Amino acid sequence: MKRFIPYITGICFGLLFTLIGTGSIEAQTFVVVIDAGHGGHDPGASGKISHEKDINLNVALRLGKLIRNNCPEVKVIYTREKDLFIPLDQRAEIANNARADLFISIHTNSLPGDQSRISGASTWTLGLAKSDENLEVAKRENAVILYEKDYQTRYAGFNPNSSESYIIFEFMQDKNMSQSVHLATLVQKEFHQTCRRTDRGVHQAGFLVLKASAMPGILIELGFISNPEEEKYLNSEKGSQTLANGIYRAFLTYKKEQEKRRHSIEEDINNQTSINVNNSN
Ligand SMILES: [Zn+2]
Repeated sequence: MKRFIPYITGICFGLLFTLIGTGSIEAQTFVVVIDAGHGGHDPGASGKISHEKDINLNVALRLGKLIRNNCPEVKVIYTREKDLFIPLDQRAEIANNARADLFISIHTNSLPGDQSRISGASTWTLGLAKSDENLEVAKRENAVILYEKDYQTRYAGFNPNSSESYIIFEFMQDKNMSQSVHLATLVQKEFHQTCRRTDRGVHQAGFLVLKASAMPGILIELGFISNPEEEKYLNSEKGSQTLANGIYRAFLTYKKEQEKRRHSIEEDINNQTSINVNNSN
């Protein structure tokens, strides 16, 4: 029996190389992490008929499915695929360990009672909040760490509800800022133009989950669960699929631009190398 093992191994390797050669297995060269906000005993914001965690997960899974079905060269990693509580720093860790190219966090917005008519989608990147309203969004999303028992040690004394804690975002260097803002702009363009949602713009605020992840990243607020009409839309098949389609189209545009940029850099290097070779001859 033992003498058959090298023979079988040889066949397996042969088959693998044949598949790669014919393009049946394409190398996954781009890694995207899709993060459905909240989960488990953290429901996120609540509306009249639903919890934020379920809306986020539904759109996240639809987005991942679109990418997996249409982009075999992209590896999709979810921070959660079911109703599970995942600590905030662990979400970023998943992306960092995977050396992801992109981090997309999906959330749903909410405002207190008297502002329940406000609706629309917004996309956020890491930065210093320019208004109290923007700071409130970051405070609400960062408050999830209060569900973690050891949050004071895990987040170095950061208090998500205290404005003073946000001073750390003032002196922060973010080398991914321009790429993150660009993707956020593409997402908002899709939400507005093709999804026909109210455009609430691209903003910056101090989100812990974006601060802890080492790649370009955005945090999407799909709409307002506090607006009963929008809550219905967010929970509908049409609404969740339309929003997932919009994010997917923005993702495709971003990825194509990245590839174009990478090819032109590679071409420049090749040209430079051939010039150097010719000069040395
Ligand atoms: Zn949220």
